[in-house]
Amino acid sequence: MLKNLTALSAAAVARPAPAYSTNTYEGPFRYTIGIVGNPTIPDVQWSDEQLSLIKAAGFNTLQLSIAWASKPAGEVLNLEDLDNPKNVKEWHRRVDQARKFGFRTLAQFGLPKGPQRDATTCILDPSVRQDCATRLRHFFEDFPEVDDVMIYTYDQLAWLCSQFGDCPRCHGIPLSKRLPGFLELMVDAVQEGNRGVRLWWEPWELSAGQTYAIVETIRPDHFGLIVHNTIAEVYFVNTTDHWVRNLARLARRRGIPMIGEAFLSGSGEDIAPLTHLACPRLVYEEADALRKTEGIVGIKEYYGLLPQRHCPNLELFTAYLTALDTPFQDLIRPVAAFYGPASTEHILEAWELTAQAMELFPWDGSWTLRGIFGRSEGQKWRAVPLASWITPSWQANRRAFFMVTDERQPYPHVPEDYGMTPPWRNECEERLFEHPWLLEDAGLRALAAGQRFDQAASLLNSAIHEASTGKQNLYAQKKDVIQAATASKYFGQQLLDSIHWSQ
Ligand SMILES: [Zn+2]
Repeated sequence: MLKNLTALSAAAVARPAPAYSTNTYEGPFRYTIGIVGNPTIPDVQWSDEQLSLIKAAGFNTLQLSIAWASKPAGEVLNLEDLDNPKNVKEWHRRVDQARKFGFRTLAQFGLPKGPQRDATTCILDPSVRQDCATRLRHFFEDFPEVDDVMIYTYDQLAWLCSQFGDCPRCHGIPLSKRLPGFLELMVDAVQEGNRGVRLWWEPWELSAGQTYAIVETIRPDHFGLIVHNTIAEVYFVNTTDHWVRNLARLARRRGIPMIGEAFLSGSGEDIAPLTHLACPRLVYEEADALRKTEGIVGIKEYYGLLPQRHCPNLELFTAYLTALDTPFQDLIRPVAAFYGPASTEHILEAWELTAQAMELFPWDGSWTLRGIFGRSEGQKWRAVPLASWITPSWQANRRAFFMVTDERQPYPHVPEDYGMTPPWRNECEERLFEHPWLLEDAGLRALAAGQRFDQAASLLNSAIHEASTGKQNLYAQKKDVIQAATASKYFGQQLLDSIHWSQ
């Protein structure tokens, strides 16, 4: 039901369908976008050495900050962060450094930035629209050399009113009707700031239906999409889902370019805080799946790069970029040869077992399993009070991606491990457990993953003795694999041990 429509919101709804764009794009990887540092190790300098390594790895564009919601190392996240002269000075230095090495630059912002309370802002509020447009225009007065801008309209401290909420402007107006006008206003602001610059939009947290509807109606000129490699998140596994393929195809028909995000190094949000997990086959499959997605024009690292660390995953990506149609087995052998011929076979097998372990691990159990390898055997498992959020995607499509998306605690905990008292147990029983078959499924898969990680660690140990160079790097890989093995086995056994509780 539409009510309380202001003239502005009415204008936002009653828009003629724009004509198809005449934009044409050559694929598949016109853009290869890197990030200096990552949220685990953010304090990586934009030095000549770091940038030359990223350039050599095959990236042609740099994101100007890590732009992570937790703001690691105080990196710029919103346009408001550029009110600070210190950040402006550092960004100028970064732009100069990037240009020196021939990189394009991409500025990423959560927009519009919301208040501390709930980060929610009204994009039908004229003052908000004007402030966002003015800030974008001013941004290009300060940074005329920046090549591209990317915005999130959910997350990154920028959330939007719900049509079911009490905002008098937005109540009853679907996001698919409100967002195109706002995004076009931002495109126009960018054009006024610096003609020809493209505004890339990350439709994060929107449902499949909403993103399809927006891509079908928005004015396509100077507009593009940057998306995770699934509607749920970026993962090393589960590459490019139905949503990504559909969206890319629809966008292409409208002349809207799309860039896919992936984990291309030994780090990732799912495996954080590990930084040396070597599973190059998965990187190959991530990149190849995006390349073969109709409409994709680029690939973007999602978490960040630590260029000074020798990284088999990144080495593989670089090799792939230079020989897109070469089979994986032909690409990976020279990467393994770095450590000397005597260790090659053990290293190749270790990397394959690590990839298999990652595939067996039950990432689809819950979003909250991101970062699980950072939890050691001796730690108490953190209760998971939230397995979803009130966003369109969480309340729709992600229910088909994760087994647990409700607000129940997904995994019951063994009280002996926690020193929990009987009242806690009663409370937990009242809160319902997941079905034991779900617990068993996730537990069995986690244990299977742990076994593969163990085998990979053993092979890496042999390779360390055989290698003629890069032993320290192999040690670091082994350390990460052991940590993943320990976490997987403990988690899996805990789930299986908890089943009798649920019966
Ligand atoms: Zn509103």
